[in-house]
Amino acid sequence: MVLTTPLISVLAERYGPVDVVTTPAAGSLLETHPAVRSVIRYDKNGRDRGISGLWRLSAELRSRRYSVVYLPHRSFRSAVLALLSGAGERIGFGGTAASISYTRRVPRPEGGHEVERLLALFRNPSQAARVSLGLTDEDHRQADQWLARHAMAPGFVAVAPGSIWGTKRWPYYADLVERLARPCIIIGSAADCDLADSIVTAAPTRAVSAAGALGLRAAASLISRAAVLVTNDSAPLHLATAVGTPVVALFGPTVPAFGFGPRRPGDIALGVDKLPCRPCSKHGPETCPLGHHRCMRDLSVETVAAAVIAVLSAEESRAICPRN
Ligand code: SF4
Repeated sequence: MVLTTPLISVLAERYGPVDVVTTPAAGSLLETHPAVRSVIRYDKNGRDRGISGLWRLSAELRSRRYSVVYLPHRSFRSAVLALLSGAGERIGFGGTAASISYTRRVPRPEGGHEVERLLALFRNPSQAARVSLGLTDEDHRQADQWLARHAMAPGFVAVAPGSIWGTKRWPYYADLVERLARPCIIIGSAADCDLADSIVTAAPTRAVSAAGALGLRAAASLISRAAVLVTNDSAPLHLATAVGTPVVALFGPTVPAFGFGPRRPGDIALGVDKLPCRPCSKHGPETCPLGHHRCMRDLSVETVAAAVIAVLSAEESRAICPRN
């Protein structure tokens, strides 16, 4: 969803702030974005489950009398919803069964970053676009309060060790935190609490866990105060991109060429080169099908620490000699 914000922004430039249909979790991230007029939450696994939920939501969309719907998501359910919305124009990517119902089918670019691929729905994907969030004063206040409560000053290293895909998790974050001579804040959702606690236990004088303590936007505000974020190929990478925090991203079963890598000049993406099994899946399986998980285990703490130090040094030089 974060990577959809450039498309949302260019659509808002053309039409004015847009309405977005999305999951409740992503809705909280988007509801304050300046290019978004309103978020329509589709709880497809809960309240809006099944045909009755789809029908209820489509009735709501019909009542809003949209003239055009853009479909960055290629699911059959989204296509049905767009059709039932009554919008005269339905624009999405071709090449799927769902696309038969669209009024305009755009070829989905094979390569490039996901941001540019999504922008192809609207116009020339080579045009510049910025990933962004609409963080509020309240989001920043919550992040400030959390930092004050834990006696943390800006300039810390943010570490995001989690991922819903097991093989995407680099196993050596605790060693990295011990090695870095900086305070570290562990970022993550409530599901990452145990993992975050294990890192804090290994380096109690260096690390504090913010996992599960803040909402998504306040967590993004926290990331914006970090000197650098170290993360797997997971959502915090994109939050950091949106708030302009430098990134060291660790790729295991996936690769940046899939289109979800860091975008900021100076960011570093690391992975184990020349491993014949890599990449092995679109998302990364829960467990390594070969049993060795070398795509992550062979990525050493020394390599990651050196990348973090290189990013920190580059940022410090930039602060001393600001570019015009
Ligand atoms: S098969 Fe290779 S790329 Fe996939 S999880 Fe295992 S080590 Fe990583």
